[in-house]
Amino acid sequence: MQLVHTVAEMLALSRNWPLGQKIGFVPTMGYLHQGHLSLVAEANRQCDITVVSIYVNPSQFGPNEDLSRYPRDIDRDLQLLSSYKVDYVFFPDNAQMYPPDYHSWVSVDGLSNVLCGASRPGHFKGVATIVLKLVNIVKPNLMFMGEKDFQQVAVLTAMLKDFNLDCRIVPCPIVREADGLAMSSRNVFLTAEERGQALCLSRAISLCQMLYAQGERNTSPMIDAASLIISQMGGKLDYIHIVDPASLQDIDIAEDNSRIILAVFIGKTRLIDNSALKA
Ligand code: AMP
Repeated sequence: MQLVHTVAEMLALSRNWPLGQKIGFVPTMGYLHQGHLSLVAEANRQCDITVVSIYVNPSQFGPNEDLSRYPRDIDRDLQLLSSYKVDYVFFPDNAQMYPPDYHSWVSVDGLSNVLCGASRPGHFKGVATIVLKLVNIVKPNLMFMGEKDFQQVAVLTAMLKDFNLDCRIVPCPIVREADGLAMSSRNVFLTAEERGQALCLSRAISLCQMLYAQGERNTSPMIDAASLIISQMGGKLDYIHIVDPASLQDIDIAEDNSRIILAVFIGKTRLIDNSALKA
């Protein structure tokens, strides 16, 4: 496992990827958990060379968000990655990614403006920009991303297609704690009491799944029931929607694979979760 700090070094490697080898890439913001590691394992399964990036991208955080306190521990991350076949860890600093003469930004219209994009203006501009840069620097064939960030996968899939990039996203399932909480680097912020409250996200999803399995198809009563359980368990709803999985637009009548997707504040910590509805 080789640690790569600069864009120049990473480009020197990626411009000479061995012919015929499949390059898998797992972009992360570090403070790794089993969710991230499941992506690395999948990259190992599908690819010959695996690259992981660790970079807390400042441009995807709003001015009042948690950039400064976002958890970071590179030694712990490298230790966790050492159990996998990771060929390169790209670990640039801000000067590498956004030098003082930096000018360019990527906007993915439509898909970026709903859900998390509506609550976090500019978030997906930062995400799309950094991922376009990373794809150009790492030159992967496949990029492994978690469905935990369902909208992110939709936005970036559109970007890769629109810009005719030779890279495909492999969406991977959400990894959860035993009690249902979706793993997230931000879970470390939760106090013991908040850790209990945080179960409201997966419980709200399960409730909608149950109603759907019982034959409910109108989204409005499902959303009402989910919202109620969230407030009863102490969460503060940011948004909850049942959407078409491709357009991310609200739907009135759910069908199989419609996506329930939500963001909830637990204390100061904003958590997200989602799931496909299945009969
Ligand atoms: P992050 O470090 O939060 O930017 O996440 C890096 C990648 O890991 C993204 O593709 C996320 O969707 C993915 N990821 C984060 N949490 C999970 C999880 N619980 N299960 C599966 N993938 C995840």
